[in-house]
Amino acid sequence: MMITFQQPLPPADLATVQANWLRLVDDVAKAAEDAGRQPDDIQIVGVTKYVDPPAAACLVAAGCRDLGENRPQKLWEKAQWMQQQASDPDSIRWHMIGHLQRNKIRRTVPLLHLLHSVDSPRLAAALSESLDPAGGPLNVLLEVNVTGDDSKTGLPPDQARQTLESLLTQPAIRVQGLMGMAGITADVAECRQQFATIRQLRDSWQSDYDILLPQLSMGMSGDFAAAIAEGATIIRVGTRLFTGL
Ligand SMILES: *Cc1c(COP(=O)(O)O)cnc(C)c1O
Repeated sequence: MMITFQQPLPPADLATVQANWLRLVDDVAKAAEDAGRQPDDIQIVGVTKYVDPPAAACLVAAGCRDLGENRPQKLWEKAQWMQQQASDPDSIRWHMIGHLQRNKIRRTVPLLHLLHSVDSPRLAAALSESLDPAGGPLNVLLEVNVTGDDSKTGLPPDQARQTLESLLTQPAIRVQGLMGMAGITADVAECRQQFATIRQLRDSWQSDYDILLPQLSMGMSGDFAAAIAEGATIIRVGTRLFTGL
């Protein structure tokens, strides 16, 4: 269904974002086909952290229903703006893709479709303590750091495994898979290798714990084709969608 906005959206921005979105959907479909996969099996999260709410609304109007932010306050602001302006705000699904401070859990969690960034044992413990299973389980991904790059966030694989183990006993939290990023300096081959490492961790934990971890959130503007080739089910794209604004 179409979503409309009370506030008129700038026509030039709308046209730009719409064209960017259609081109991305097309390129994702091509990458999926090249990998022998179904385009529908890859979900695109539009990362709106670079833009203001009206530009984010252009992306929603273009057809994107999954929005990602990396700062809790920005997510709150945009979610509230959408609540006031969009004809069907509940069809927008919010993804938290950056660090969630423990004192922001309470206000952020009720807004979320998926938390991609469980990045410390402390956050996992705080989520376990503060979530009420009666509110329905929170879907999360464990953010893993496979590059060993200090500037990247995420759990080293050993710590991610321990955190997974601790969360498996928590009824209020459902671990759906892993999230990861390639190193900043990685070339295409290295990106692909790093994404493969994330998939292999997922595969081995699935069999070790006899669970399903269906989601792999990996791939951004510059490397989503490599991520799709290695099994990404969710890609997080920002820059490409908003260039030209
Ligand atoms: C900003 C961001 C993205 C989007 O990256 P682009 O290169 O702008 O597409 C994806 N994932 C995370 C965690 C981010 O912070």
